[in-house]
Amino acid sequence: MKFIIGNWKMNGNNKEKDTMLKALHKIKTKNKIILCLPFTLLNGENFGICLGAQDISEHSNGAYTGDISGEMIKKTGAKYVIVGHSERRLYHHETNEIIHSKAVAAVKNGLIPIICVGETNEEKNAGKTTSVVKKMVSECIPKMGKYIIAYEPRWAIGSGLIPSEKDITKIHKVIFDTLNKIGQEKTPIVYGGSVNAQNAHNISNLPHVDGLLIGGASLKSKTFLPIIDSID
Ligand code: PEP
Repeated sequence: MKFIIGNWKMNGNNKEKDTMLKALHKIKTKNKIILCLPFTLLNGENFGICLGAQDISEHSNGAYTGDISGEMIKKTGAKYVIVGHSERRLYHHETNEIIHSKAVAAVKNGLIPIICVGETNEEKNAGKTTSVVKKMVSECIPKMGKYIIAYEPRWAIGSGLIPSEKDITKIHKVIFDTLNKIGQEKTPIVYGGSVNAQNAHNISNLPHVDGLLIGGASLKSKTFLPIIDSID
């Protein structure tokens, strides 16, 4: 069973959501589909599809204007939440410490955090990918509960560029080894960054790749459904 996770980012409306969920509902797959939506779309009928949020406050309540707590997310019926997406790290200056607190808040509220890690282009060019990713994993994961790790090189997101299959395999093994050392070897590790219907099948079959996180191509049935169909 692979995880196929869509991330709508700041896109979509109720009509588009219903159309997508109805289409996903009709698909026959043994894989687990999760759609991560903007907060405003999380309420309402989910047509049997697992939903996730894209961020969570590290706080449980109080004077944090604009933030959304784990309890609020849980009450929508969502089961997952993305934390530490590279766009949050970049535009909201989220550190590993903040991301760790958010992952803990998710677990405490019965949500499964999808913790994103990945190097920047500069870090890649400086040969630092392995050390950066190891550090992110070690510093961001909660010490309890279940979670998913998403390896998403920042330079691959929305760019049409992807690491070679050899490099994806190498980094997923690094993540697996890091988790294995602390007895968390069953943690799913998914790949994200410019996944499409042409590359999804091969990437999802690489060693230690337990699924995919898909941004742009998850927005429309025309691009999302062929990806789902291509994954065994
Ligand atoms: C993402 O937003 O997590 C992502 C992987 O985006 P894209 O598929 O568009 O590169």
